[in-house]
Amino acid sequence: MQIEKTAAGVRAQVKAWKKEGLSVGLVPTMGYLHEGHKSLIDRAAAENDRVVVSIFVNPIQFGPAEDLETYPRDLEADSKLCEQAGVSLIFAPEASEMYAEDFSTYVDAGKVTEELCGKSRPTHFRGVCTVVNKLFHIAAPDRAYFGQKDAQQLAVIRRMVRDLNMDLEIVGCPIIREEDGLAKSSRNTYLSEEERKAALVLSKAVFKAEEMAEGGEKDGEKILEAMRNIITAEPLARIDYVEMVRWDTIEVSRIIDGPTLIAIAVFIGKTRLIDNVLVRAAQ
Ligand code: AMP
Repeated sequence: MQIEKTAAGVRAQVKAWKKEGLSVGLVPTMGYLHEGHKSLIDRAAAENDRVVVSIFVNPIQFGPAEDLETYPRDLEADSKLCEQAGVSLIFAPEASEMYAEDFSTYVDAGKVTEELCGKSRPTHFRGVCTVVNKLFHIAAPDRAYFGQKDAQQLAVIRRMVRDLNMDLEIVGCPIIREEDGLAKSSRNTYLSEEERKAALVLSKAVFKAEEMAEGGEKDGEKILEAMRNIITAEPLARIDYVEMVRWDTIEVSRIIDGPTLIAIAVFIGKTRLIDNVLVRAAQ
């Protein structure tokens, strides 16, 4: 397995593979890899001849008061996981490799970025779209893999790829959870023992929503209220948002009459965690 620090190095290797007729799958990550990331890597390895994993804590997708500096990093452990999973190349650039001092070109996916996480993190998706765009140009993948854990991100990337006629397939992968339900996340390492227990309100709320929707409940307000009740019962939890949107457009909805995303962001102490479920109208 190769570890590349430069865009030119990645591009040269990918060009060589393409010449041999090999397909390339890309898994963009911020590192501190866990089973969630691994599920994306495994899928990419099953569907492509070569897998590239990018590991880059992208500064432009963090707000000024967010955790850019403290975000967990461990390239050595990440390399081991990647090697064992059959990854061919890790792209782990420094920020200076990705952003020239006078960098000034951004990609903005518009309306799909306005609700949910985009509301509380106004420049987040501009940063995500810009870096993912750059990674697509650098690694020229045939397919790129994203987790449903960051459901809005997946919807935003799909929109960007459609709108800008990008020639690759976006593959969405299911949420991987801990045994007790908590969605796996690099940020879970911030949680104290007490907070780790409190964090279960996220998955509990999401499972409740899923159960209600599957039971035929179509009234969004009722579902969101049941979720809020679960979360507010936990003293360490503070709601950022509990929201329901149409899956295709990410527009706020209060009726389940088609594919619907029910998504939450909750602070557990100082740590902001997200979770979601995608439900369809009961037949
Ligand atoms: P991150 O390193 O947090 O930026 O995540 C990189 C990719 O892994 C994104 O596409 C995430 O949606 C995905 N991912 C992170 N956690 C999970 C999880 N628990 N299950 C599935 N995919 C995940």
